[in-house]
Amino acid sequence: MPAASRLNLAELDVLELEGALESRGHQRFHARQLFRWIYRRGIVDFEKMTDLSKDLRARLAQEFEVVTPKVESDLRSADGTRKFVLELADHRCIEAVFIPDTPAMTFCISTQVGCAMGCGFCLTGKMGLVRHLTAGEIAGQVRALAAATGLLDHPFNIVLMGMGEPLHNYDNTMKALRMLHDANGLSVSPRRVTLSTVGIVPGLQRLAHEPLMPNLAISLHATTDEQRSELVPPNRKYPLADILETCRNFPLKRRSRITFEYVMLAGVNDTAEDARRLARLLSGIKAKVNLIPLNPAPGIPFERPSDERVDRFAQILADRYLTVSVRKSRGQDIRAACGQLIVEGGTKKSAAQQMALLIGS
Ligand code: SAH
Ligand code: SF4
Repeated sequence: MPAASRLNLAELDVLELEGALESRGHQRFHARQLFRWIYRRGIVDFEKMTDLSKDLRARLAQEFEVVTPKVESDLRSADGTRKFVLELADHRCIEAVFIPDTPAMTFCISTQVGCAMGCGFCLTGKMGLVRHLTAGEIAGQVRALAAATGLLDHPFNIVLMGMGEPLHNYDNTMKALRMLHDANGLSVSPRRVTLSTVGIVPGLQRLAHEPLMPNLAISLHATTDEQRSELVPPNRKYPLADILETCRNFPLKRRSRITFEYVMLAGVNDTAEDARRLARLLSGIKAKVNLIPLNPAPGIPFERPSDERVDRFAQILADRYLTVSVRKSRGQDIRAACGQLIVEGGTKKSAAQQMALLIGS
C-alpha cells in the first residue's frame, strides 16, 4: 500500500483507534497496546512492538503510520532550558521549550503555526496565522520532547504557552489533552497542564464545562480597554469587563487560582497607577499575577523596564495581598523565554515552592 494512504494513528484517541482497528478486521484491545508503545515507550515503529504477533505487526505497518514532529534542532541554554525546533509533515516548523525546573519538569508547547491575534509585543503575532496544529501535532510535541529528554516515565507539566492561541484552535487543543491524559499512554493529569489565552470569551465559557479542565492563565497585559485594545487586538471584541466577569464565574478546583500574565513594557503599562488599577480589576477573583518583563526583539517597538520598576510594580500588588511572580529571563541566549521567580507578599520562596505556586494548584 502506498505510504500516502496509511492512516496516521497519532491523530486518534483510544476510542477512535479501537474503531479504526475494528473496521480493518483487527481486535479492539490492540488499541491499548498501541497506545502504550506510542505514548509510554515512545516507539512508533510497529516492527519493534514485540508483544504483537509478527503477522499483526506486518499488517499494521501496511495499514497505519505514526507521524511525530521531527526534532530539527535542539538548542541548549546555559541555564538548562532547551529550545526545540520541530518540523511537521508539511515541513512547517514550530517551537517547543523544555524547562528543567523544580519540583517538576515543564514542556512549553505550541498550538498553531503562527498566531492570528496580533499582539504588538509578540514575535509569533508578527507571523500571522499560518495554520492550526492538529491534535496529533499538539500531543506529538509532548511525545517528541519527553523522548528527547528521557522523561517518558517521569511526571512533567505542560504549559500551552508556545506559538499560537489555544482557544482559537479549541477542538484540536482539547483533543490533544484527552490523548495525553489517557491512562494507557502518558496519563498527564489536567492539574499538570496550564492553558494560556488572550481571553476569547466563548472559548473560556466552553472551557468552564470541560471534564478535563487545565489550569487557566489569562494574558491581560493592560488595565484599560483603550490600552489593551492597542496591545492585544482581540480585546476590541472581548473587552476586559467580559473577560473578568467570565473569570469570576469560572469553576475553579479547591485551592486553585487563575494566573494573570502581564507583559511589562517600559513607559507603557508599568506605572504605579497601572499596578493599583490591576489590583482593583482582580478583586473578587481567585487570582495570582505573573509579571513578564518584555523580551525585546528586533521589530518589536517596546522596551523592557528596569528591574527596579518591575519590583516596584510587584510590591504594589503584593501590598494588596496578591500573589505575584516575576518571570525570570531564562534561556534568553537561545530565545526561549520561560521559567519564573516568585515573590509572594514580598517574601522570597524556595525554588520548589515557587514552581508549586506557579504550576499546579
Ligand atoms: N497565545 C497565548 C499563549 C502563547 S503566548 C497567550 O497569548 O496567552 C505565551 C505568553 O508569552 C503570553 O503571556 C504572551 O503575552 C507572552 N509573550 C509574548 N511575547 C512576549 C515578549 N516579547 N516578551 C515576553 N513575553 C511575551
Ligand atoms: Fe503572541 Fe499569544 Fe498574542 Fe498570539 S495571542 S500574538 S501567541 S501573545
